[in-house]
This record gives sequence, C-alpha cells and structure tokens, in this order.
Amino acid sequence: MDWHLLSIEEAFAKFGSSKSGISLEEARKRLEQYGRNQLREKRARSPFVMFVAQFGDFMILVLIAAAVIAGIIGDAGDMAPIIAIVLLNAIIGFMQEYRAERAIAALKKMAGFTAEVIRGGEPQTMAVEEIVPGDVVLLRAGDVVPADLRITEAAQLKLDEASLTGESFPAEKKSSTLDEASLPLGERVNMAYRGTIVSAGRGVGLAVATAMETELGKIASMIQAEGDTRTPLQRKLAAFGRRLALLVLFICGVIFAMGYLRGESPLLMFMTAISLAVAVIPEALPAVVTISLALGAKKMVRQKALIRRLSAVETLGAVTHICTDKTGTLTRNRMTVTRLFADGRTIPAATSARDAGVAGNSSLFHLMAAAALCNDARTNGDNGLSGDPTETALYVMAAENGFDPVKLAAQFPRLAELPFDADRKCMTTIHEGSEGVVSYTKGGLEAILARSSSMLSGSTIVSLDFGAVHPANEAMAASGQRVLAVAMRRWASLPEDISSEAIEKDMTFLALVGMEDPPREEAFDAVAQCKTAGIIPVMITGDHPATAAAIARRLSILDGEGEVMTGPQLEALPLHELEKRVEDIRVYARVAPEQKLKIVQALKDRGKYVAMTGDGVNDAPALKRADIGVAMGITGTDVAKEAAAMILLDDNFATIVRAVREGRRIYANILKFIIYSISSNCGTLVLIAFAPFLGLPLPLFPIQILWLNLLCDSFPGLALAVEPVEKDAMDRPPIDPASGVFAEGRGWFMARYGIFIGGLALGLQVYAMKAGHSWQTMVFTFLILSRMAMALSARSRQLSLLQLGIFSNSQLIGAILLVVILHACVVWIPATNPVFATEPLDLREMGMVLALSVAVLLVSELEKAVLRRKRLP
Ligand code: ATP
Repeated sequence: MDWHLLSIEEAFAKFGSSKSGISLEEARKRLEQYGRNQLREKRARSPFVMFVAQFGDFMILVLIAAAVIAGIIGDAGDMAPIIAIVLLNAIIGFMQEYRAERAIAALKKMAGFTAEVIRGGEPQTMAVEEIVPGDVVLLRAGDVVPADLRITEAAQLKLDEASLTGESFPAEKKSSTLDEASLPLGERVNMAYRGTIVSAGRGVGLAVATAMETELGKIASMIQAEGDTRTPLQRKLAAFGRRLALLVLFICGVIFAMGYLRGESPLLMFMTAISLAVAVIPEALPAVVTISLALGAKKMVRQKALIRRLSAVETLGAVTHICTDKTGTLTRNRMTVTRLFADGRTIPAATSARDAGVAGNSSLFHLMAAAALCNDARTNGDNGLSGDPTETALYVMAAENGFDPVKLAAQFPRLAELPFDADRKCMTTIHEGSEGVVSYTKGGLEAILARSSSMLSGSTIVSLDFGAVHPANEAMAASGQRVLAVAMRRWASLPEDISSEAIEKDMTFLALVGMEDPPREEAFDAVAQCKTAGIIPVMITGDHPATAAAIARRLSILDGEGEVMTGPQLEALPLHELEKRVEDIRVYARVAPEQKLKIVQALKDRGKYVAMTGDGVNDAPALKRADIGVAMGITGTDVAKEAAAMILLDDNFATIVRAVREGRRIYANILKFIIYSISSNCGTLVLIAFAPFLGLPLPLFPIQILWLNLLCDSFPGLALAVEPVEKDAMDRPPIDPASGVFAEGRGWFMARYGIFIGGLALGLQVYAMKAGHSWQTMVFTFLILSRMAMALSARSRQLSLLQLGIFSNSQLIGAILLVVILHACVVWIPATNPVFATEPLDLREMGMVLALSVAVLLVSELEKAVLRRKRLP
C-alpha cells in the first residue's frame, strides 16, 4: 500500500483513528481481527522431535540395532531390558532438555520489547505484539520501530534503515505528504518501517501495517538466520568429545577382539563394546552445559539479571572489568536540585526565586522558565511525575518556585525543539515569547559555555565571565553534585533552520543548577566485593569529571591508584597509548557513548574480560564488542537491549556483581559435573579394558554398563549443577576461560581417579573370584558406590565434606539415596536378578564393597587436606 501518499488526516480517517488513538475496546477487537503483531518465526522444535533427537547419537543407534538383531536371532528376554534402559535414558534426557528449552523460551519472552502507544487519549506502555493498525505509536531515540507507521509528528527524527534498505546513513523523517507513488522505501520520508531504528529525535506515527503485513514481514526470512549458538565451553567439550570418542572406540575394538579370541560369544562381546562406548563417550556433555546454563539463567531472572545469550552465563565468571555508567546504576537516579548559581552567587534552590519575588526579565526568572519549559517531564494521573530524573528534578524546582510547567507551556507554546543527545550533551526548546521568540537550552557546562557569548546578570546582559562560573561549577561538582548549565537566546521570529549549529550558538548564559543524586546503598558492598573477587569496577559517565570523581571516591572505585580521564583526552589518545594506561584508569568522565568502544577495545587487547553497561542507541556498538554487554532494563532503549547479552531489570550495579557470582557458581558446577562424570567413566573403562589382559572374564555385562550410566550420570549429575555457591567464590580471581576444562590439574585428577577406581575394581574382581564370592555383583555394586563417593568428592576441590556441610546440597544426598535404593532393588529383589545378571550379596560381601567405596572418598578427602595445608601457611 502507498501509505505515504495519504495526508495525515486521510490516514487517520482510513483507520478510524485520531491523535488520541483508538479506544481500548476497538484495540481489543482489532487484535482479534489482525492477530498479534509478531513475525512468524522458524517453528520451535516440537517435544516429539526433541524426544526423537535423543536417539540421534550414532552409538545409541548401533546399540538399538544390535539389540534388536540379537533379540531376533537370540534370546529376546535378554535384549528387552537393554532397549528399556536406552528408552529410559532418552526419557530422562528429553525431560531435562525440555525443561531447559522452556526456561530459554520464557527468558526470550521476557526480553521482548515494549512500545509507547496512545490509546483513548492516554499514553501507555505495551508489548509490541499488542499493537494494531490504527494505534498511535510514540517514537524516541533508541526505539526499534514496532510496526509500519505513517509519521504524523517528527522532531529531528532520524531513522537508521540499514536493516531494510542497506543505507547506513540515518534518514531524516518528516510528517509531510508525498505525491510520488513509486518511491523506493528508502525515500518514503514520512514512513517509519518495522525493524528500523530511531537513531535520534522524537516522533509519532500511525500504525498502518502490523505483523507479516509489514515490509519486514514480507522479507521475514532475513531475520531467521541463526548462527552457531553454542558457547565456547560447549565447542571445546564437543571437540574433546570427538577425540575421546575415537580413543574409546579403539579401546572397545580391542576389548571386542580380545574377548572374541578368548572364546566369548561374539554377540555378547559386540554388545559389551557398544554399551561401553555409549556409556563412556561423553556425547551428552554439551547438552549438560546447556541445561546448567539455562537453569542458571532462569534463576538469575529472580535476581533481576535477564540473560539474552546463554553464553553470557558462562563468560560472567571470567569478567575482570565491569565498566559501568554512573547515573542510575551506581547512584539512585533520584535527583533533587539543591543549589543554584546565578548572578555571581550560589544560593539554595528550594524557593529562592519565589522568595526573591523575581522580576520578569531577570536571570532567575528565565532559569525557572527554562526549567519548566525546556523539559519533557509530565505529570501522570496520580500526581506523580514521569520522565528523565534530571528533568523531573527541574520540574519540581520550577513548580516549587511558583512556575507551574503546565500553565507556562500553555502560555509559551513550544514551536520547535532540538532533543537531548548524549554526544551534544544539551537540549533546546523554542517558544513563542511575550515579545518574539525565545529559545532555552540546558546541558553540560562545557557544552553551554562553548555555545554562549554573553551572560545575564540580574536583568542586564553582560559579557561572559568564565572566572566566576568555573569555580562555582567546580565547587558544586566536587561535592558530587551533577551540574547543569542553562542558557537562552531571543529571536524576532521562528528561524527557518532548526539545527543545532544554527540555534545553539551566541546564547546568553543564565545559571548553574546543582543536583544531588546519592549513591545506591547496595553499590558500596558491590564495589567491595568486586575488589576481593579480582574484578575492577570502572565508571564511565557523561557527567563532569569532578562530579564523577567525587562519587567514585565515595564508593571507593577511585582510591590512591586510580586515575580519571575525560572524553576529550580519551579521543586524543591513540589506541596503543590507551592500552598502556587503560588498566590504571578507574573513571572516565564527559565521555560520548561512541568512545566506550575504544575503552572496551583497549581492555580486550590487554586480554581482559569486559562487562560494559549502556542504555542509549550509541552504546550499542560497545555493548556488542564487550564480552558481556549489559543493558539497562528500565531506562535502556530497545537498541541497547538488543545488542546486550544481559539486561539488568533493576538498572543496578549490584545486580551485575551478583550475576558474576552466579556465573562463577554455574561454571564451577559444570566443571564439577565433568570431573565427576569423566573420572567415574574412566574407572569403568580401565576395568573393562584391563580385565582381559589379566586373564579375567568380562567384568560387566552390557545391561550392567547401561544401568550404571543411567543411574549415575542423570540424578547425581544434575544435583551437582545446583551445588550452592562456594563461600570463597568471590574471594578468588576470575576464571581464566583460556585455561580449559582439563587445566589446573583437572585432567590429571580425572585420569588419576579413573585409574584408582579401575584398579580397585580389578583387585576386587581377582580377590572375590578366588574367594568364591558373587564377584560380578560385587564389582558392579562397587562401581556404583564409588561413583557416589566421586559425586561427594567433586563438590569441592579443596574443602572437606564437613567444611561444606554434608547436607548443604540436599538434592545430591537425595540423588545418592535414590541411586542406592534403586541399585539395592537390582541386587536384592529376586525377580530382577536374572535381568541384571546379579546375585544378592551377603553382609560380608556388602561390607567389603562398602569399605572400598568409602576408601575412595577417604583418599580424596586426604588429598584435599594436603592441598589445604599447602595453600595455607
Ligand atoms: P551516565 O553515563 O553515568 O548514565 P549521565 O546520565 O550523566 O551519566 P548523559 O545522560 O550522557 O550521562 O549526560 C551527560 C550530560 O548531559 C550530563 O552530565 C548533563 O550535563 C547533560 N544532560 C543530561 N540529561 C540532560 C537533559 N535531559 N537535558 C539536558 N542536558 C542533560
């Protein structure tokens, strides 16, 4: 449809809408008629497909095929249990994966975007999916356009349409009607298309198409491409798994050949080799990682950290630098104007202008008028204020001084505006004045002074006196106040060129406004925790260096060693020079969002892992480049959220630190699972591989190997994933992801315990055979119980079970009990004996098995005690 040809009135008429939008009732009807405003996505995997995929592993297919063939040619009764166990394994795997998938889907839904829409005359925030044709949508910098819109109002509105047109230069948008039907999308300047980005300005648009009817919907396949979503750890594990699989297959080949040569039944030997391969090849490890990360991410939402990319959970534990905004993240973002500097003196703000009975042309009068008019804060229904806290503070100050912003806005209507942006660090509104036109500009001191040529003293315009303004600014900033400067300019009539260059110059400086924004209570603790955890908090702010340094000192981000650098200094420094200094700088002030990218780059070049916060459009590149981009959930724009790996639902610095702690816990627990699982499997492999060389009969039957695998990997394995965070998790340096799974002695640990358990099992087999015991059931039971010992041992590399608290992971205790009970059934319930080739053990036999299993635990405890000794003087 050629919506761009319609005038605004025609467009409104066509959709039965108006400036105040459609009614709530109408919106509900249209939602039914047009459907939800969402693009059809590649269908998620159905539960059935997910279940079938559990059998996708090649070795499992071979095992099933072999069992079926064996069943046909041999004894069906022998093979049925094998199939049953493989099925059970698949069901458990499916249930875990399904839970993880549901957790991920829920996270995705939570990370969905909202839009500001006017319905029934009231602005409301709603999920993008609820927008219907006829809705009036408000656009502000950083929004992703939620539907195709005919623009009805535009103030310096610029759209980045690269996703649709490939044009990377932002397009300026207008509300005027066009008259050429066949214009390409990029030239339809009165239209905003879904998926494009508001890069600057403000606007309003009428939704003319939603969902698949939008231009983006028509090319929806574009956004369906999804690359490799595996995390670095998963990729490493998959590669390791492939290498190990080759080794295991080779060993299985040898076992098969040896057994065959010794005259064992070839079918039995084949089944044994395949069962062993299925049990020992760690093909499930990447899936276990996903499940741990997904369940971890689900837990993190409750702690106000919403994960958008699973890999972030893994990387969190490695973070060495948290680069954070100041306002709202470290501070409360509840501002109050406390002091003013006007006419050469600093005065309290409260009711100073009212009490002084300011004259109509004085600097205080214009300051109050500017605070009321150059302001987008609004009262909402219940007498509260909504808008940017800097502006609500100014709103309150104006109102308390008798300058009612609502009345003033009616008296001096806004004719045009230059919205605030973090690069210019100022904003301007232009109003019809009592005589001619007046513009008010407010912003950072440097921005305002650079654009002013005179100042108002009382009611007289005098030349600008930097000498008085700077010390006043320094004094306010040094006490941690945010200082805003205000200026004005008069015009005979509304100028034609409404650009920053034409409007924001030759201004008359009016006053400074100092506002208090105290640090958040939790930030003190969070910064202290960072320090013990080897993480360096770095403040990056658009605010004045003195303000930033004062707050950073209060929070101990800045102490003896740290430096402050300003945006202009940062700009002037070449990257390689910055790299040399970057580790000493704790505060960056007056930074433009684009400069954050350079900081991230320099830190990454030094091999650091960087978490970087951001909220605006221009923060997006730095968020993407950082190891973990962190977007603000409350004040963040869509673009920042989309670029981020994690969203802070409470915009709070302390939440990042909590997420790091959680990341460390999850990573450590994944390692615990890997250590437990691989060292135990190694034990089984050693036993079965070496038995023939010692002239021993096959120690375990296929069904026993599979039972071992089913019981031990699932329940205790999952319980290790919920192991509580180790007490000293935040007293250690960050994880080094480059060091890998088998570094720091972990590989050697797994091999050592594999050989130890395998050796004990071989010894047990030799002794029990000689002594005429039920040797096979004893070995089988020992392998199960020694795994339980390994599960307990894997809980910590250093701390003893008593130090950890035996019952502090109740899930693990429950899992171990479950395994013991189930296995006891297999040993002592007569009906199961033929199925599992077991015999009931007597007290002596059981005592021996138990003693050996406890020995495994004791040896590991002893080793930990030695390790603790070594570490502590
Ligand atoms: P942070 O990056 O830590 O959140 P910030 O909020 O101070 O800090 P910006 O929002 O980029 O960073 O603001 C930079 C400067 O721009 C402020 O110090 C202030 O001087 C000015 N400023 C902020 N908000 C406004 C506004 N609404 N109107 C005019 N000027 C503003």
